[in-house]
Amino acid sequence: MTSPYKSIVILTGAGISAESGIPTFRAADGLWENHAIEEVATPEGFQNNPVLVHQFYNQRRRDLLHPDVKPNSAHSELARLEHQLESLSNTRFMLITQNIDNLHERAGSRKLIHMHGELLKMRCRETGLIFDIRQDLTLDHICRCCRQPGNLRPHVVWFGEIPLAMNQIEQALMACDFFAAIGTSGNVYPAAGFNQLAKRYGARTVELNLESTGSSFDEHHYGKASETVPALVNEILKNL
Ligand code: NAD
Repeated sequence: MTSPYKSIVILTGAGISAESGIPTFRAADGLWENHAIEEVATPEGFQNNPVLVHQFYNQRRRDLLHPDVKPNSAHSELARLEHQLESLSNTRFMLITQNIDNLHERAGSRKLIHMHGELLKMRCRETGLIFDIRQDLTLDHICRCCRQPGNLRPHVVWFGEIPLAMNQIEQALMACDFFAAIGTSGNVYPAAGFNQLAKRYGARTVELNLESTGSSFDEHHYGKASETVPALVNEILKNL
């Protein structure tokens, strides 16, 4: 089968998980769940008050694991897109998320990069080893690799730290001919610059958001992700 695209890259942000019950980050006033980002999402914040930072991510983890929080149709349609492309075409596909929740993988996505890390993982500050975590993380937690307390931190990329897998992401952006950004405010770099890089290398660029973010894309589809994403996926797949 032939696809209209050789390579598709999709970027998602907090907006895709809003309808699953996970609040977005309010970049405009610098608050995330009523906390200043400097306090809870920077290395300096962790150094100044590790107890507060652990409490913050513990609460985010508990919220994510609440039985009412489930992937919505935007997550499941992106998983369907990946599987259909894989079985019916030669189109390459990459899903990049800024989200630290696990709703994409729960919906069935496999070719997924968590560029800002994952809430259900913790990392040893001594060795860099990464472990799963579903319970609360505290300063008393003894690390499995270094056997010390206090060395484990959330495996989350904080402001001022370098996002994960940037080489792989940049290669994909330069090679793609379709790029869509879904539910992201365009305030957090480097993700906010991905559309420009993809466009410079010739991709069609599309923004899906509730409202205008002021970012420059070829097309804008306004509305809830649970409605705009299924429509976009159908549009791509109908041409297979
Ligand atoms: P953001 O919170 O800055 O922006 C969210 C965007 O989504 C806004 O532009 C908003 O208009 C749009 N939006 C809200 N509801 C929507 C809906 N139903 N359908 C479509 N669009 C909708 O998000 P960001 O750009 O991803 O930056 C936030 C940072 O904070 C990220 O780095 C992320 O790691 C972190 N964060 C993650 C989560 C999560 O994992 N779910 C939640 C909050 C914050």
